Amino acid sequence: MKTLLIILVFICGLPTFNPKKTSRKILDTHLHGSKDPLSQMQTLQHAGVYKAAISSSWDLQNSYRKTEVLDLLYGLMLPCPEGKVPYSLQPCYALGEDWPPLDWVEQEIKKGRIDFIGEVLNQYYGISPSDTLLYSYYQLAQAYNLPVGIHTGGAGPDHGSPNFKLDMGSPLLLKPMLARFPGLKVWIMHSGDQYYKETIGIMQENKKVYADISVISNPDIVPASRFSLIMQSFITAGLEDRLMFGTDNGDIEKVIGAVEGLDFLSAEQKKKLFYLNAEQFFGGK
Ligand SMILES: [Zn+2]
Repeated sequence: MKTLLIILVFICGLPTFNPKKTSRKILDTHLHGSKDPLSQMQTLQHAGVYKAAISSSWDLQNSYRKTEVLDLLYGLMLPCPEGKVPYSLQPCYALGEDWPPLDWVEQEIKKGRIDFIGEVLNQYYGISPSDTLLYSYYQLAQAYNLPVGIHTGGAGPDHGSPNFKLDMGSPLLLKPMLARFPGLKVWIMHSGDQYYKETIGIMQENKKVYADISVISNPDIVPASRFSLIMQSFITAGLEDRLMFGTDNGDIEKVIGAVEGLDFLSAEQKKKLFYLNAEQFFGGK
């Protein structure tokens, strides 16, 4: 009888046995929607992501509120070229607007449904991040202490935004808006990519500005040797506390591998990059 009980416990115990989960802890600060939100979330979770900042069309983004796999921070994409999200070309908002109405934005912020403003798509729209058309949104972000994430650098092929302007991707264009909104929490998405030296200059002048390393850390887009060079420049400039991990929907394992491959970084510096800096920036949201 006793033997039978032991066997039963053993057998019943088996289905609850899980293979050891990854010990990684990652906050992905740059995520967009996918056709299959649940499997996207599960893939990220499997890789060690526990929290992510997502921005997408408002409709698609709302479908993530049901997935409950990861802790998600929700963004607000704007301005939308011809009312559409670049690449996927879904309408950003139900009525096809390029700019979401301000009073609606404020209501959604008050309901706790917007955690940050971004991805700011000014470059795809063909305007500067310091264009005054954006100022009322920055004003709201500052008033509610919401971070603002601004796309910089270049773009991939087939974005479908007819007014895209390459020279609107330089982080130097942030200077007027940073001067106008000194309290705003701003992050430079993609670390400026080819304009990374300009990003370093802006971050040295403005201690509140952070950057995410999406795209530059993706070996399918940027060679590992170049990513290493860019990261060495940031670290040498003393910015290790303000760089944040991001995939921009790139292959999570490859992006993690690229960061792990930076052998000049200590384990503590990698931890800052994977999640500690982002936790600091998003203020425990
Ligand atoms: Zn971007």
